[in-house]
Amino acid sequence: IDGVVYKVDSLALQRALGFVSREPRWAVAHKYPAQEAVTCLLGIDVQVGRTGALTPVARLEPVFVGGVTVTNATLHNQGEIDRKELRVGDRVVVRRAGDVIPEVVGRVIGDEKEEAAHVARPRFDLLGTYPVCPECGSHVVRGEDEAVARCTGGLYCPAQRKQALLHFAGRRAIDIDGLGEQIVHQLVTNSTVTTPADLYNPDRINANVLAGLERMGEKSAANLMAAIEASRETSLARFIFALGIRNVGEKTAKDLARHFGGLKSLMAADEAQLLQVPDVGPVVARCIVEFMGEARNQAVIGSLADALHWTEGAPAARSADGGLAGKTFVLTGTLPTLKRDAAAALIEAAGGKVSGSVSKKTNYLVAGAEAGSKLDKAQQLGVMILDEAGLMALLEPVPPAQDGGGQGSLFEDQE
Ligand code: ZN
Repeated sequence: IDGVVYKVDSLALQRALGFVSREPRWAVAHKYPAQEAVTCLLGIDVQVGRTGALTPVARLEPVFVGGVTVTNATLHNQGEIDRKELRVGDRVVVRRAGDVIPEVVGRVIGDEKEEAAHVARPRFDLLGTYPVCPECGSHVVRGEDEAVARCTGGLYCPAQRKQALLHFAGRRAIDIDGLGEQIVHQLVTNSTVTTPADLYNPDRINANVLAGLERMGEKSAANLMAAIEASRETSLARFIFALGIRNVGEKTAKDLARHFGGLKSLMAADEAQLLQVPDVGPVVARCIVEFMGEARNQAVIGSLADALHWTEGAPAARSADGGLAGKTFVLTGTLPTLKRDAAAALIEAAGGKVSGSVSKKTNYLVAGAEAGSKLDKAQQLGVMILDEAGLMALLEPVPPAQDGGGQGSLFEDQE
């Protein structure tokens, strides 16, 4: 979509050409420049996001740019509109690069007559136009130090519920394959699902209900049911991220899971305890305490905790001198069974750090098939090199034999 890679086809020639540091000599990447087009700004709508933020969206006269016809583009917030002096009716430049959301670069400065027309057009005022949420009618507020205006409806607002569900089901959160926008829209609109916990309630969601939705056949309903079932097995970090707590991104969720080890201690934590977590500042700590203090959220978390399963670990404070605390890992090549981010998650869960490049500070390089320059560099620096089995052994030290031992091959040598 956003470029071309030219490759030498012959494997023998590829081997002969080899690599220069990370880059193969037998392949060259070429990125297309972003494409731009001029069109007319027909109107400004808003979209209500997961946190209630009202994002202004430019409605454009359809224009072909970067391989697709663009009819709308994000305008981010009021400040952006003011800075770019955009008024409905203006000629604007639209840019699209690769797969990214199109954006309005700015307005086209025209001749005297056009400039006079621009000045005569009313300035767009988001709060003035939308004093209440277009989706639920709740008041819209803009905090003093905030760039964005928000709907105060919370989970009462269907737009926020939809976005919260999509976030919950996302690939990096609970990961329910096939629960896309179309389906979420129907489930929320007909009130089948009001919270993520409803997804796991067989009275609300089952193969019949799903098969009855628009554009859903029996087969896709069965597939979605299977995906929902599969999502019950997850990790604490994914669960925390999936809750969609404001200011708690994927990395913070991982840090929280590692620090607290279990859901109960996270829910019980006060701001001071949360501030002990690396990279958690006062704003994030307050968001978590507020979220966990909300009775409605506690109820949803309780139901979800019953429906889902994950392995809880010891709080980081207790395992700081053991585990992989302070150890830095680099992953390279293709491991036989573990995907790269799964391996990274295991290492991080054990307190280790995963870095992108090999240096003197690297403790272990985990190398799979087709490991390239990172392996060479690790060998030069004398970094300990592990395969997947070696990593697993490091992550799960042989536990003391219980009940006569004899479970699994790790014990066999000792008996
Ligand atoms: Zn709303």
